[in-house]
Amino acid sequence: MVHMTDAGELRLRAPTLCDVWTPGVMRAGCRKHPVGAPNLQPPVADCGCGLYAVHPHAPQAVRRLVRGLRHGMVAGVVEAWGRIEVSFAGLRAQYARPVVLFSDRSVCGSVPIYLGELASIYGAEVVEVDGPEGLTAHLRGLNGIPEGTLRELLGDPRQIALVPTRPRRRWARCEQVVESGFRAELLRHDVVNERVPLRPPRDGVELAVEPADGTEPVLQTRAFGLLREVTLAAEGDRVAVWDRRGRVRGGYVTANQRAARAMLRTGTLARAVIVRQSRSRGSGERRAITVLATEVPEVLAEIGPSRLRVTLDPDDPPI
Ligand SMILES: [Zn+2]
Repeated sequence: MVHMTDAGELRLRAPTLCDVWTPGVMRAGCRKHPVGAPNLQPPVADCGCGLYAVHPHAPQAVRRLVRGLRHGMVAGVVEAWGRIEVSFAGLRAQYARPVVLFSDRSVCGSVPIYLGELASIYGAEVVEVDGPEGLTAHLRGLNGIPEGTLRELLGDPRQIALVPTRPRRRWARCEQVVESGFRAELLRHDVVNERVPLRPPRDGVELAVEPADGTEPVLQTRAFGLLREVTLAAEGDRVAVWDRRGRVRGGYVTANQRAARAMLRTGTLARAVIVRQSRSRGSGERRAITVLATEVPEVLAEIGPSRLRVTLDPDDPPI
């Protein structure tokens, strides 16, 4: 934001806190972590301190800059160094310096008249752009942290969240069954907090499974509780579902068998988890299960009314 000090000097200041950016190099401060304390230099891991920036290639970068420009803020590019904490969306840095201030021809307002003076105070360059397309083109030419490096540092930007669903009654094979369990959603961390439906088969595919032997209630065993990891194996032209240690064959995949075979063949299957079940309303016996097979390594379950999110650990007891 544009800021005028009590002495009448033009400055930049942070949009959320009132910290004024010092001309030249800006050093991050923190109210909780005083500058100079060893190992507690901002950005500190469990604190919000640091100088924030979004990566130029992050999908939200253009959106944020355009929104800032349209709301009378100053948008630009910084050079950042020192201690840096990265996320898929952006980074928090210890030091930064503005190098570009954008002037958007499609926006009229009072900010552009200050830009020239601000740029000379901070040693930055004013770059004229034309709306979102102009910004996109400019950001594409910048050297941010490459996406491949981010993935190496942070792992897979995708996680699967399992959201509890209400029990549903329906008829199957002349008996009423109650279906209960979880619905899967994809969390994308390369986009801030975005939840999107799964794009099967790449993110995950649901497999309907029927018991291997109708007379033996293998699906009743504790090993096949909800949120339990299972192992898929190709057996002839079928795909079998085993418990994680390969001791009990629980059944065969009946729907989406082709997708399951393709994942096995390409070795992309990272997790297979039992997410839903149907029980007979009369006897309570388990009639069918749904397995989520995914190449996304991390699966989280939302548990309880407060939607606490926990990483699914294969050794946790089944729910
Ligand atoms: Zn701090």
